[in-house]
Amino acid sequence: MSTEGIQREADLSGLNTLRLPARAQRLARPATLDALEQLLAERPQDEPLQVIGGGSNLVIQSDLPGLTICLAIDGMAKVKEDDHHVWVAAGGGVHWDDLVAWTVEQGWQGLENLSLIPGTVGAAPFQNIGAYGVELSQVVEQVTVMEVASGKVLHFAASECDFAYRDSRFKSRDRGRYIITGLELRLNRTAACNVSYGPLQAHFGGQDPTAVTPAAVRDKVIEVRRSKLPDPAALANAGSFFKNPVVATDKAAQLRQTFPGLVAFDQAEGVKLAAGWLIEQAGWKGRRLGPVGMHSEQALVLVNHGGASSADVLALASAVRRDVWERFGVSLEQEPVLLP
Ligand SMILES: Cc1cc2nc3c(=O)[nH]c(=O)nc-3n(C[C@H](O)[C@H](O)[C@H](O)COP(=O)(O)OP(=O)(O)OC[C@H]3O[C@@H](n4cnc5c(N)ncnc54)[C@H](O)[C@@H]3O)c2cc1C
Repeated sequence: MSTEGIQREADLSGLNTLRLPARAQRLARPATLDALEQLLAERPQDEPLQVIGGGSNLVIQSDLPGLTICLAIDGMAKVKEDDHHVWVAAGGGVHWDDLVAWTVEQGWQGLENLSLIPGTVGAAPFQNIGAYGVELSQVVEQVTVMEVASGKVLHFAASECDFAYRDSRFKSRDRGRYIITGLELRLNRTAACNVSYGPLQAHFGGQDPTAVTPAAVRDKVIEVRRSKLPDPAALANAGSFFKNPVVATDKAAQLRQTFPGLVAFDQAEGVKLAAGWLIEQAGWKGRRLGPVGMHSEQALVLVNHGGASSADVLALASAVRRDVWERFGVSLEQEPVLLP
């Protein structure tokens, strides 16, 4: 990519959904693998590098030094099929929900529960996006990346990605090593949709699961999400601000005794607690601290009512974390990524 395509001192306030003010020293939007490779080859090797997508899971603390890459690699296509499955590929710059909408329109099953999650295809494997009982890892065939150091394109099978709850090798052990340039997913032609989760179970529970279409599930997920989650275009936010903490079984038993209303789900690795419930019980639902607050309908979502700085966001996050710890002895982990 020629240096003319690179914006200097680019305003990032419209490129992060918390709408925090910041600039990128150099911002590039490569639209092809060749352009990305050239960009990496031409940059000074000691220059700081960040990758952002739609900015929907970020807390930008200050101006971003060095090069910031916002992938613009486009394209969605069916790459192969058999009697039961369809394999689709999408570029890292595609809007995640455009991919979901397109696959659901084709009648393919697999992504409908992940409808309306903001952001890009490239960021989706980073934290293994999940919603309504489904995680991306369940449908990934392979993740295509470019290695930052070499510019080499590599393909990782899902089993090589260390996918876990809101986690992957790209977020943990290989953070900063690869840029995710595309995804290949394996979807189903005929499988039953997963409607086991809360509001979907309540709506579709009585119906024959094989008769529930991906389109109907998508519609319901969109309706529920719109009713529960603030739209970042109207009220700046980065979705769930904390992960749901997983605690040991004996800790959960002790909490259940003291707090009979505890919202908790048994998992193979322990008991997952609803962070939103903990925050609400700690008195933070709808409460503000300066220009930021925890949302009045969904206590897990930290919102910027206008004019907030990253210091305001981090001060509120730390107050919430402290109060939840003091009341429940449970430690909350922040979900959005801090940059730089
Ligand atoms: C209203 C709202 C609702 C949300 N609901 C959900 C939900 O239900 N489930 C869920 O899992 N998440 C949810 N999120 C969080 C967010 O949408 C996802 O994490 C999404 O995948 C982030 O995509 P993005 O393109 O905006 O990434 P960004 O926020 O720009 O980046 C997030 C991280 O990914 C890295 N990254 C981005 N692109 C690449 C790439 N191409 N290669 C390597 N690393 C990359 C960045 O460096 C950064 O560390 C929600 C957010 C909002 C605002």
